[in-house]
Amino acid sequence: MVDASNRTERMVASVDHVFSWLDNGSWSRHRFDPGIADFALGNPQELPLPGLVDALQRHAVPKDKDWFAYKFNEPGPRAVIADSLRRRTGISFEPGDIALTAGAFGGLGVTLRALCDVGDEVVFLSPPWFFYEMLIESAGATPVRVRLSPPDFDLDPDAIAAAITPRTRAVIVNSPNNPTGRIYREPELAALGRVLEQASARNGRPIILISDESYNRIVFDGIEFKSPARFYDATMTIYTYGKTTLAPGQRIGFAAMSPTFPDRRENEQRVTVHQIASGWGFPNALLQHAISDLEGLSIDIGALQARRDRMVPALREMGYDVTKPEGTFYIMARSPEPDDLAFAERLAEHGALVLPGTIVESPGWFRISLTASDEMVDRGLEAFRAVARVGAGD
Ligand code: PMP
Repeated sequence: MVDASNRTERMVASVDHVFSWLDNGSWSRHRFDPGIADFALGNPQELPLPGLVDALQRHAVPKDKDWFAYKFNEPGPRAVIADSLRRRTGISFEPGDIALTAGAFGGLGVTLRALCDVGDEVVFLSPPWFFYEMLIESAGATPVRVRLSPPDFDLDPDAIAAAITPRTRAVIVNSPNNPTGRIYREPELAALGRVLEQASARNGRPIILISDESYNRIVFDGIEFKSPARFYDATMTIYTYGKTTLAPGQRIGFAAMSPTFPDRRENEQRVTVHQIASGWGFPNALLQHAISDLEGLSIDIGALQARRDRMVPALREMGYDVTKPEGTFYIMARSPEPDDLAFAERLAEHGALVLPGTIVESPGWFRISLTASDEMVDRGLEAFRAVARVGAGD
């Protein structure tokens, strides 16, 4: 058995750099500055969608005595989600395949805890989302990092193959990707599926593909998002409604087990047990009632894309080396000075906040969130211009 306190120490260590920046970095010290342009995190910078407020108000009115009774994986929300997944993926998901979770955090956590054993290895890709390592550790499993190469950060099935061992239990793939903005395409997803099939056969047990699709509806330029679940049987699809509603404090999402998943019903039961064991990890009754409305709700993706199309050329014209995201909220850019934490600090002093790349294992880079308001973009570009000028004169 893993010693619980050691495990907690490793969990703490894996997010130490995140917490220390959140507590003491440029964001915490400048986020309430008057006129600040906040591009640091995927947080809303404007009032919530009116449709979201309407839905929450409407569904807050009880229609029967059980309205706010204990809620489990309720049949109504499960059916809404299975239906949406069938339409979006062409895979014949059934309501019983859907675990209702507190966002993607809940879905990732419960999947890892239910399906990994202590000592199993879980592969994740770097630059990662901040909390993969911590969630893998919390399941008693061992995180195994595979680095993707800048500036394209392409999915690299060969590098994943090379990281797989007889102990590998799962691989986490995030597309559209936070922070790189990449959407993985059919050839590399099919290649990944083949790698996982061969390795599962070699290992004598299936390797689970955990497909974190939190941003699968935040796509630009008419690109068709293809779920990795279409290319591999033993897939768990993770989703959160926190992105399309831009209300991440309202916690609802799901973990959907592919109908082709080996020992599907037994594994679904394991997930349910872990939902309960994680402290009744089901979304609140109100959000479960509202799901049929939340399912169809979205922030204006065109406006997000327009913001990208304004910022990317403007920053390039100033001399910044900027990637053009295919989806998500995020632009990745190279820091004009090697120390991205120092750059973020300097930029903050000029009135704009970004996430230093060091926080997502990408020193020398920084990340811009497009959830800033258009007005913040106006002011923020001035700050980027001022800092670029200072850098050039240094
Ligand atoms: N995965 C990724 C890639 C994310 O960016 C996020 C949110 N930033 C999550 C999971 C968690 O989403 P939620 O907070 O809605 O559960």
